[in-house]
Amino acid sequence: MTTDIDKRLIWLNGRIVPLPEATINVLSPTAQFGANVFEGIRCYWNDEHQQLYAFRLHEHYKRLKNSMKMFRMEDKYSVEELTQALIDVIKANNYKEDIAVRQTVFLDGFGSWMSKGPVNMFIAPIPKGRTLSPDKLGLKCCVSSWQRISDRNISPKVKVGANYINSRMAQLEAMENGYDSAIFMNEQGKVSEGPGSCLFIVRDGVLITPPVTASILESITRSTIIELAQNELGLKAIERDVDRTELYICDEVFLCGSAMEVVPVTQVDGCMVGAGESGLITKAISETYMRAVACQLLGYEKWLTELY
Ligand code: PMP
Repeated sequence: MTTDIDKRLIWLNGRIVPLPEATINVLSPTAQFGANVFEGIRCYWNDEHQQLYAFRLHEHYKRLKNSMKMFRMEDKYSVEELTQALIDVIKANNYKEDIAVRQTVFLDGFGSWMSKGPVNMFIAPIPKGRTLSPDKLGLKCCVSSWQRISDRNISPKVKVGANYINSRMAQLEAMENGYDSAIFMNEQGKVSEGPGSCLFIVRDGVLITPPVTASILESITRSTIIELAQNELGLKAIERDVDRTELYICDEVFLCGSAMEVVPVTQVDGCMVGAGESGLITKAISETYMRAVACQLLGYEKWLTELY
């Protein structure tokens, strides 16, 4: 039976093919060991402009190239090639809606976990609507019994497929124990991030987030929020270590990332955060972020790439 997803076109090694025809060698290091680096990129449709905007493409490709370097992969694609391939596959699908793109550079062929090539790429753009507004959402999280991977073993800065085994352990444990998601602590016993997102807290009107050295992915949403909070909302935003107990006594907690955007956390380890619903600062940040991504916030066009 043909389902919608079967009709999607993806880019694989220079060819645009229907998703079911995009096959990868089962013995490749990507299939066996998660030896791939990738980006999750969001593109937002602006109906008034009749335009699809890719959000912070330049920063995504910079991080992708950094991941390839740290993972010792051949730097095979220029930023121009990465961009053009994305544009080609989006145009081939004729998407005129919000989408999420998985752009993945992987180790192909009959290699082992230590092979460096051949390097190939796929780009899979899939329709994905925006996350509900914060007042309709609220995650109940636990602090995970699993520690976040660190720069001393497998670095969370490398956005490599295999890193998500650490995320999987925390997320599944949290759900099995009745929570929606988990918050990791790092090797130093400080708050790190979520399984697929970064974390902010609000204390007395100040926005606080763990530093990039706290075993986190160098999140693009995180730096976007710091900039928007300071420049658009006049908030003080600081990067510093966060203690576990601060999650219990702060006024607001939220998670953020390209996929989830901004989502409030209303309970941590059974402690109610603030009034147990999305706080005002979380709402303001979410609203400003959603305007920026869709080209509805003056002065932030620099973050957007027109795809048509
Ligand atoms: N941390 C982890 C572990 C993630 O997987 C993600 C999602 N890419 C993030 C943080 C958020 O990163 P970004 O804002 O760049 O999407």
